[in-house]
Amino acid sequence: MNVKYSNPHVSFDGLNWFLTVGIELPDPMPIASGNDGIGIDLGVKDLAICSSCHIYKNINKTSRVRRLKKKQRRLQRKISRKYEKNKKGESYQKTRNIVKSEKQLLRVTHRLTDIMTNYIQQITTEIVKREPSFIVMEDLNVTGMMRNKHLAKAIQEQKFAEFIRIMRYKCDWHGIRFITADRFYASSKICSVCGHKKDGLKLSDRIYCCEHCGTVIDRDKNASMNLCHYGQSIVKH
Ligand SMILES: [Zn+2]
Repeated sequence: MNVKYSNPHVSFDGLNWFLTVGIELPDPMPIASGNDGIGIDLGVKDLAICSSCHIYKNINKTSRVRRLKKKQRRLQRKISRKYEKNKKGESYQKTRNIVKSEKQLLRVTHRLTDIMTNYIQQITTEIVKREPSFIVMEDLNVTGMMRNKHLAKAIQEQKFAEFIRIMRYKCDWHGIRFITADRFYASSKICSVCGHKKDGLKLSDRIYCCEHCGTVIDRDKNASMNLCHYGQSIVKH
């Protein structure tokens, strides 16, 4: 394949060396698919809920990740205790023991990042392989969502921004149209069956009950259906 490389860059984080290069690919041929588009809602309970009925779980709840997080917290505490213990006057000393523990901590942090990134790569590849005619995701109003402490932690841990970034470039690679629903589109408040808008929906309401047409549906599934409808209305124009 005709690939151009640019901007090689070497960095070191105290444990590993990283080599990054930019690659330039020729523009892809768009997929001429008659498939439906897919709306993807990112959530706290599950990571990604697709309008195509696929649900991808929150990997932070698995025992493997929980074990690593526990180890990470333990190492963090151990290191700060050691710093306190070896404090000379106002200055902190870095002992050989501290250096060793910090390397261990870095290794655990890397493991966690790798697990999460790998998971997002797998999901996004799987979604792209279904050859949807378009993909719709919500524009992350990160600042607004970050004000909610509970949500902010989940968003950071689950790497929502990273998910959107990867999904977007994979769409580009495969010639799939990527649509962003702007943050004022109330994907969770609208009934995906009749279009009625419910204003009093709380974050804790996990089930959407429409008082207009009587539809009862999982909140995130409803949001993903709405995102798909949003994409359809844009594609038509
Ligand atoms: Zn309804």
